[in-house]
Amino acid sequence: MEEKRTGAVVLAGGKGRRMNCKIQKQYLTLAGKPLILYSLEAFEQSIIDEIVLVVGAGEQESVCQNIIQPYKLQKITAVVEGGQERYHSVYAGLQALQNCDYVLIHDGARPLLTDAVICRAIQGAIDYQACVAGMPVKDTIKESDSFGFASKTPDRTRLWQIQTPQAFAYPLIRSAYDWLMQDESRQNGITDDAMVVERYGGPAVKLVEGSYANIKVTTPEDMAVAAALLREWR
Ligand code: C5P
Repeated sequence: MEEKRTGAVVLAGGKGRRMNCKIQKQYLTLAGKPLILYSLEAFEQSIIDEIVLVVGAGEQESVCQNIIQPYKLQKITAVVEGGQERYHSVYAGLQALQNCDYVLIHDGARPLLTDAVICRAIQGAIDYQACVAGMPVKDTIKESDSFGFASKTPDRTRLWQIQTPQAFAYPLIRSAYDWLMQDESRQNGITDDAMVVERYGGPAVKLVEGSYANIKVTTPEDMAVAAALLREWR
């Protein structure tokens, strides 16, 4: 049987405004290395065949010089410019992948990605065509009304917090994104890739086990949490 190829799109094209810092969060130093390097190295050391890195406008050269070359990342086949919204950046990444059967889409702002999570995501894509890493929520979650009062308390036993990687059969996610990009009205409120497949009317998205340590570094205190987790968990 012909070998299946799996690619990864790593997103580092966001502005990171909630970090309140001049340097973009993906390039901040975390336990001695640039934050973005952690997930790139996790993919580099995994069974993934190819990595496309998506960065902000005008950052391609400096990323090549300061990250890809010094850390000898061999699997990156393209560094492309992202767009205004996350889904623009994902679309740019998907278009740059060469010939993949499966793709994992990952927030570069999640440095605690492990090989076990990568493997579960790939298996989920093979078995179900679409899957996302996530974990059951620990807190009670409330929906608020527009005045800031609790209006609903969904059954906690069925709630998951969703992470990345989100993994898909390439033809499915590519068709779903092609469909999304054809009409701006379809893009309203899209925050992850699973939503694109759901809106497109694709197959049900399977939830696979991520890790509670797989946090997204978003606000300044997340840097300290990520550093502590890196010391304890990797
Ligand atoms: O904004 P959010 O926290 O959802 O970003 C998740 C990931 O997507 C981050 O790694 C960020 O760099 C990336 N992103 C991007 N292009 C954007 C917005 C976010 O690559 N326009």
